[in-house]
Amino acid sequence: MPRRYAAPEGQVIQAFTFALDPTPDQAVQIARFFGARRKAFNWTLDQIRGDLEHFRETGESGTPPSFYSLRKRWNAEKGTVCVNADTGETWWIEVSKEVFADGVKGAVDGYWRWQKSRSGQIKGRRVGFPRFKKRGKDRDRFSFTTGTMRLEADRRHLTLPVLGTMRTHENTRRIERLIALDRAKILGVTVSRQGDRIIAAVRVAVARPQQADVAQPDSTVGVDVGVRRLATVATTNEVIGELANPNALEHRLKELRRLQRQRCRRTRGSRQYQTTATKITRLHSEVAYVRQHNIHVFTTALAKTHGVIVVEGLDAASLLQQKGLPGARSRRRGLSDAAMGEIRRQLRYKCPWYGSRLIEADRYFPSSKTCHACGHVQDIGWSEYWTCDECSSSHQRDDNAAINLARWASLGSVGAPVKRGAEHQTESHSAAGEDTRKGSPTPVGPNNSVRSAA
Ligand SMILES: [Zn+2]
Repeated sequence: MPRRYAAPEGQVIQAFTFALDPTPDQAVQIARFFGARRKAFNWTLDQIRGDLEHFRETGESGTPPSFYSLRKRWNAEKGTVCVNADTGETWWIEVSKEVFADGVKGAVDGYWRWQKSRSGQIKGRRVGFPRFKKRGKDRDRFSFTTGTMRLEADRRHLTLPVLGTMRTHENTRRIERLIALDRAKILGVTVSRQGDRIIAAVRVAVARPQQADVAQPDSTVGVDVGVRRLATVATTNEVIGELANPNALEHRLKELRRLQRQRCRRTRGSRQYQTTATKITRLHSEVAYVRQHNIHVFTTALAKTHGVIVVEGLDAASLLQQKGLPGARSRRRGLSDAAMGEIRRQLRYKCPWYGSRLIEADRYFPSSKTCHACGHVQDIGWSEYWTCDECSSSHQRDDNAAINLARWASLGSVGAPVKRGAEHQTESHSAAGEDTRKGSPTPVGPNNSVRSAA
C-alpha cells in the first residue's frame, strides 16, 4: 500500500463529500477529465508492462517504476498520446495536468500493491496485477492535490483547478466554517461519479477543537447500537437517551427494497434495468448521507457530554450474527453492524478532542443477554422483550444492553487509572468476563446517576 499521509500532531484527516451541480460545460469537462485520467493510467500501465517484458526477455533491469520517472515520461510523450483519432487534434492542453498525474500515480500504486502483495509485505487477499481501465467499467474519478482548491464563502460553491467554480448541490457549511476559523486546511479533492451524480470528496486536515472539556466528567454511559433503534444510551442504572433511526432513512430503505425487487424482474442490461439501477445507486448514496450525518451529530454530543463512554468491542456484533436470517432482517443487522463500526470509529477520534474516555468492551461480553438486575445470562434469540429466568425481571433488549455496557466501565477497567483525555483506545481484556456473567450488579455510585440527554 502506498503510505498514507500522516496528519500533523493534533490534527486529523477527514473527508467531506458534496454532490455537485456542474454547468453543462463543466459536466462535459468533467467527463473528459475522467477519460483523461483513464488514458494516463492505461498508458502508464502499458509502459510498466513493456518494461517488465523487456526485463524478462533481456534480463536488463531498468529502474523500478516510480511516479516521478513515469510522470516525466508521460509529459514527454503526451503530445503524441493525446491525439484525437478523427480530427488529429492534440487534446492534453484542455486537461489539468493534475488529472494526468493522478492517472500515472494510480497505475504506479497499483503496480506496487501487486508487487508487495506477491512478496507478502501486505496482508489480506492477494492483489492482482492492475488491469486496464475501460470506459463504463471504470469507477470514473480524478483527484487534485495541488492548485486552486477553495470552498467559497457563500457556502454553495467549490472552486477547482481548470474547472473553475462549481455550484454544490448541498450547503458546504460543515467544512467552510472550519476553514474560515482556520481550523481546517484542504489537502485534496477527488471528483467521482456515483450513478448519475458527480460527487466531490474534499479531504482536509482538521485541528482538534480548542476546548477540551466534557460537560459531565463524572458521567459514565454505555451505548448500544441496535436494529430497531439506531442507538440507546444508558448510565449504569437507567436509560437516558435513545436515537431512533431517522424517518428519512426508514422511508428510503423501504423504497430501496421495492426498487431492488423491481430490478430483479427486469432484463439485465435493458434500458429499464439501467433506469432502476441508477435510482438504486442514488438511493444508496442518500441513505449513506442521512446515516452519516445522524451518526456525526450523535457522537459529537456523546463525546462532549460524558466522561466515560463504553461501546461494544470490535466485531461483537458480527460474532452474534446468526446464519439463515430472512433477507430483510439480515440487511438490517448489517446496517446496525456498520453503524456500530462507524460510531466507534468517530468516538475514537472525537473523545480525545473533548477529553472524554472511550472504552471498548470485550468482544465476548454478552451485553444483550445478561440480565442487568441479577447478572444471569440466558439465550434470548432475536426477541425485543425478554424475561429473566432467574429473577423474573423483564427487559427491553437495547435498554438492557446499554446499561450492561455502562457497567462494563467499572468491571473492565479494574485497577486501571482513569485518565481523562488519555489514549483513545482502552481495550480491556481483563478477567471481567466471568464476573459479568455471574457477578452481582455494580453498586450505583453518586457519579453514575447523572442525567443527561445524549
Ligand atoms: Zn435477572
